[in-house]
Amino acid sequence: MATTEIAQARRIVTEIPGPKSRALQERRQQAVAQGVGSVLPVYVQRAGGGIVEDIDGNALIDFGSGIAVTNVGNADPRVVERATEQLSRFTHTCFMVNPYEGYVEVCEALNRVTPGDHEKRSILLNSGAEAVENAVKIARSATGRQAVVVFDHAYHGRTNLTMALTAKNMPYKQGFGPFAGEVYRMPMAYPFRWPTGPENCGPEAAQQAVDQITKQIGAQNVAAVLIEPIQGEGGFIEPGPGFLPELAEFCRANGIVFIADEVQTGFARTGQMFACEHEGVVPDLITTAKGIAGGLPLAAVTGRADLMDAVHAGGLGGTYGGNPAACAAALAALEAIESADLAGRARAIGATMLERLRALADKHDIIGDVRGRGAMIAIELVKGGGDLSPATDAVAEVMRYCHSQGLVLLTAGTYGNVIRMLPPLVIGDDLLDEGLSILEEAFARL
Ligand SMILES: *Cc1c(COP(=O)(O)O)cnc(C)c1O
Repeated sequence: MATTEIAQARRIVTEIPGPKSRALQERRQQAVAQGVGSVLPVYVQRAGGGIVEDIDGNALIDFGSGIAVTNVGNADPRVVERATEQLSRFTHTCFMVNPYEGYVEVCEALNRVTPGDHEKRSILLNSGAEAVENAVKIARSATGRQAVVVFDHAYHGRTNLTMALTAKNMPYKQGFGPFAGEVYRMPMAYPFRWPTGPENCGPEAAQQAVDQITKQIGAQNVAAVLIEPIQGEGGFIEPGPGFLPELAEFCRANGIVFIADEVQTGFARTGQMFACEHEGVVPDLITTAKGIAGGLPLAAVTGRADLMDAVHAGGLGGTYGGNPAACAAALAALEAIESADLAGRARAIGATMLERLRALADKHDIIGDVRGRGAMIAIELVKGGGDLSPATDAVAEVMRYCHSQGLVLLTAGTYGNVIRMLPPLVIGDDLLDEGLSILEEAFARL
């Protein structure tokens, strides 16, 4: 085996961050641009499964998976082995110069595992943002239309076009304009904050979106409707039931390309291979990245062959897109997901988390909402007593405590008041329980 096994147990031997991490953090200030932040500046020595080990010898419980990337666990031995074998044969040729089988194999696999049994094609890229950009290029080229419809609370990346597609100004857009044009934003079906109540959210939000698209843009001018089936950075917002199917139906009826951005929700994260499957929605195009290759950089657009093949030869590509080591890693990661039924494991993780977090919410009025699917679960903190205003101070306090106890935890949400949990799907029940106990302690101490 290519890696040494890391004990799947939390171990705290210094304060967090420890002295070596603090020293490195100081060195970093002189070398790394301030614009790049780190949620928890403990510097990593190694990682495996659900444990991140730092340079001070602390072993932390991972409830972040490097932002939904290491779904199969960190440094999964099969991923390491297959990528290493590939690296020893060749590191790069550029698929646009001399192609190789791994790229083709990954595209075949994506065409097979994505929703729908229609004929598909795929293209491989480096990042989620690049995948989203390419999906929009393909939709525009195939339809001859320009407008792109996106939603409130959406996150699609940090490049110029994807900043325009992203909803939140700070920190993603502030000072970085001008932004790309022909982007139109619609209200999101956000059940927890829907004015007439969560049960009306899906159908009413769909009606509003259809109305606004029709009146403000004209359906005949819309190239694509782009949406995360469960919003990630926006706070794990699962749209009210019916919203996604109605949007997809509206797109079908009007020749609009329905793009599901599954960069965060893909690869078994939500308890299905893709989150669209929960409501039986089959997107025309689907963008993937994060969980695709066990931690190596890879992204893809997969979709209807007629749309994907509409782009002229040479119109799509990129120097590193579908790097051979990343392709080898993706094939190993996919095998790990399918052979161990990690989608089933994600559902079990979700059941455990929802049960304990709902019990916690019963005790603490400031937990306004517990939501999510599979191993993508969040709590939204509010002032309490019927006041839904965001409790960002409480979020900061909970995060500080959890981090000090060696639990890697992330926040999210337009108002910064959501705590999100994204453990690797291979995390053991003991680590999962221990992580949740630390979170419970944090609330008890508030
Ligand atoms: C992270 C993310 C992106 C951007 O991916 P990068 O690899 O960071 O460019 C796009 N869409 C969604 C839904 C994401 O979560």
